[in-house]
Amino acid sequence: MATADIILTPTVSIPEHLVGEVQSKLAYVDEAIVSAAVAETGDQITLHLSQPEAAERQAELSEKVQRVVTTMVRGAFKPKVQVLEDHLDRRVPNRADPMPELLANGDISQEANGIYSLGPLLTRLINYFESQFVDLADSFKALPYRFPTLIPARYLERVNYFRAFPHSLTFATHLREDLDAIDHFAQHAVCDEHGLNTPPESFAKIQALLSPAVCYHLYFALADKPLPNGQLAATAVGNCFRYEAINLNSLERLWNFTMREVIFVGSKDYVLENRETARQRMQTIFEKIGLAYRVESANDPFFIGEFRKQAAFQSAFQLKFEIRASLPFKQSTLAVGSYNYHQDFFGRNLNISLPDGSPAHTGCVAFGLERIAFAFLAQFGLDPTGWPASVRGALNA
Ligand code: AMP
Ligand code: ZN
Repeated sequence: MATADIILTPTVSIPEHLVGEVQSKLAYVDEAIVSAAVAETGDQITLHLSQPEAAERQAELSEKVQRVVTTMVRGAFKPKVQVLEDHLDRRVPNRADPMPELLANGDISQEANGIYSLGPLLTRLINYFESQFVDLADSFKALPYRFPTLIPARYLERVNYFRAFPHSLTFATHLREDLDAIDHFAQHAVCDEHGLNTPPESFAKIQALLSPAVCYHLYFALADKPLPNGQLAATAVGNCFRYEAINLNSLERLWNFTMREVIFVGSKDYVLENRETARQRMQTIFEKIGLAYRVESANDPFFIGEFRKQAAFQSAFQLKFEIRASLPFKQSTLAVGSYNYHQDFFGRNLNISLPDGSPAHTGCVAFGLERIAFAFLAQFGLDPTGWPASVRGALNA
């Protein structure tokens, strides 16, 4: 008899360090999958489907899952995790998941999967964290920028984004400039529980996407010319979009989130030294707040085909470190920010040159504002009387 669950044994066992990565990619395997879980031991995968499927479809799903596993796992080696700071043992007063209470109190309201409105409590908390990040930016005399939410498709193409992260793209489009198409849409557009029903040919060719990161806009602004003065520190906050399918389940993982970045462009030494100084300055700020976290080497969530090579490269050259805050309610950690070094990747691809003619190096420090607020609430609870004085003061501001 058909069942709504499929239990699979991967043809190659998934090593412990890849269990999370493989699990997150299973979200993109097939629309029939409602949830997917990889056993911690790496030798069993459970797929929960929206409805029972016939044997043929089950076989097709299994084949796709096996393909993900073999592509990501075969030939992968365990990266050495480098820990730059470890403050996970800081004592924090709360152990409860803040989500149910935040929803019940109306402190947040869910518009759709991965899309939330934030009320005054979270807004003030985020403003407080933002002020700390802006102070960090000021300490580097970083110049302020404002970037659009849309990003042209041809920009992302120039930096290989379509190949590296196709799964998380969000496309922006509009109706074709065609009277009949617009009239038809106006009269027939209706939503059902899956979304808006309208013929796909109503839409124009995609010229822009919703931006997945902030710093890319700066690199595009600097493209195809020499970098004035040979170095630049800049800062901006912006809306970012990463479609994370069934992984979009709480404030932890959003489709639409906001990021504050401090960005460095210049020589290799300039970028690496500033990235390290930023980390040290943040250490003081996090200590004042009392946040339990650690900073460790990491890799970006590259899509299946690119994953193994790119993740190994990032790890070998120590290109990415994440600030992982403790989530006591699930005994795990959540990346609330990252320290990134891109070598001369953007300088080369976008033709940003230093005074000696060589391509510029870039790096950024990026903070996820919703996540830092969420992790803080997970550690300190919703009642401000249990919060560190510095943060409590921000609520009355
Ligand atoms: P990254 O550029 O991937 O290192 O992202 C920088 C920061 O943005 C992460 O450390 C998170 O805090 C935040 N972030 C990334 N993806 C999401 C998401 N889907 N939802 C919420 N925050 C996110
Ligand atoms: Zn960045």
